[in-house]
Amino acid sequence: MTVAIPLFTSHTTSIDDFSEIDSKFAGILTRALEEQEISEHEAVVLFSAEGSELRSLIRVADELRKRAVGQIVTYVSVRNINFTNVCYTGCRFCAFARRLDDPGAQWLSLSEVADRAVEAWEAGATEVCMQGGLHPHMPPNHYRNLIIAIKEAVPDMHVHAFSPFEIWYGAQLADMTYVDFLTLLKEVGIGSLPGTAAEILDTNVRQQLTKNKLSSEEWVEIITTAHKLGIRTTSTIMYGHVDSPPHWAKHIKLIRDIQRDTEGFTEFVPLGFVHHNAPIYLDGDARPGPTIEENLRMHAVARIMLHGYIPNIQVSWVKMGPDVSQQCLMAGANDFGGTLMDETISRSAGAPHGQHMHPESFQRLIKEIGRIPAQRNTLYELLEVQN
Ligand code: SF4
Repeated sequence: MTVAIPLFTSHTTSIDDFSEIDSKFAGILTRALEEQEISEHEAVVLFSAEGSELRSLIRVADELRKRAVGQIVTYVSVRNINFTNVCYTGCRFCAFARRLDDPGAQWLSLSEVADRAVEAWEAGATEVCMQGGLHPHMPPNHYRNLIIAIKEAVPDMHVHAFSPFEIWYGAQLADMTYVDFLTLLKEVGIGSLPGTAAEILDTNVRQQLTKNKLSSEEWVEIITTAHKLGIRTTSTIMYGHVDSPPHWAKHIKLIRDIQRDTEGFTEFVPLGFVHHNAPIYLDGDARPGPTIEENLRMHAVARIMLHGYIPNIQVSWVKMGPDVSQQCLMAGANDFGGTLMDETISRSAGAPHGQHMHPESFQRLIKEIGRIPAQRNTLYELLEVQN
């Protein structure tokens, strides 16, 4: 089966042949190929790529991907556990949250969470990814107890849990500092943190998306505190709503600056905004998510800006679907993400791409683009290479 890749099918032009494109743009790509650091301003220029410039951008990002991680495309076997969807924060991009007496409001008990972890382990998952809403009646020790419940049921399961916003809430509930709260979670077995709730790390954009949520500064403080305690995290960006390329460049530069100090990020995950059921879109205040070209630019520029800092750029197949994910894997990305049994956050927002991808499907999609599939664990150790 051949894959429809509209922008390019193979690199017939040599990597550093920039004869067809604007000299300023070519100069930035030449510096990228020389593995020099690309500035925030230069990244904004790269985000403007169209036509032959976009093809050149993709070619350079793909080359840097090859140098950084070779031909392997990884995926992880993971079950999502959204232990509650009750939340009153009111993020305007969120279609997942429910109020206490809404139909569909959910609260999983500790034993239900543990049972799901056991089922996941028996189905071959190596990770549970656990996030939830900020339930107003959350018991003070609930975050700690969720970790304990899973680790007692399945001691070897990697628990990837709690966004920085949940850490902020949990520390408040327990009346602890971030250091003490994260230390407590580490002691009971948390494996790593999702670097979600980042959206766009810019005060003005955050004000439009959600007035009541964690500030950029608090996100950075919690993430760097986790890194300093030896808790790795992912990093994310959510784009394609009220934002624009200067915000993207600033956001990725901030992620790079943090990584320079802490080396705590495992990966960078571009998350395209899913608009269908999002209040901010339904109110007419946001655009309907990124275009395919914006998805390609985002993955390519992230690869170029983060080269030498974060080796893993992940595609979100739930948000983009398999075809666009394949294209992004040919534009700088190297990780297909997780199998994601029970994904509900993107599904609530109206993403049409299902909630579970079998390992065999990942393997087929990766082989279709001429790369080598490999199952990894959360911290990017390879578990099985499927040549
Ligand atoms: S994104 Fe998270 S914090 Fe915001 S409303 Fe939804 S569940 Fe609550």
